[in-house]
Amino acid sequence: MARIGLVAHDDKKDDLCRWAEAHRHKLSQHDLWGTGTTGSRVMAATGLSVELLKSGPLGGDQQLGAMICEGRLDVLIFFIDPLSAQPHDVDVKALTRLATLYDVPCANNKATADAVLAFL
Ligand code: PGA
Repeated sequence: MARIGLVAHDDKKDDLCRWAEAHRHKLSQHDLWGTGTTGSRVMAATGLSVELLKSGPLGGDQQLGAMICEGRLDVLIFFIDPLSAQPHDVDVKALTRLATLYDVPCANNKATADAVLAFL
């Protein structure tokens, strides 16, 4: 069982919910963690249980980063919006940096998320 973090920027939340619905059965076999709004949206869309952290701009991204550096997260599914400026851009960078540093699989779009999930 893997510990999977779920995050999506606002314009990508619908995409992540659709992805989670499509992979509902597979995801149900793992422990899911999500930033506040993303996690709530995924739970509502899929009925899956997601442990909720703070909203991303309020520290949720940093909480996921802390989980990574403490060895408590195995996979990060992080649908980034490449077309919008994010007020918490420094947190976004810090999270992706820690995923890279700790060699945690980090999927920033649907194609990569499909590939990562296929290995779980
Ligand atoms: P949210 O945070 O799920 O609380 O909207 C996501 C983000 O980091 O933008």
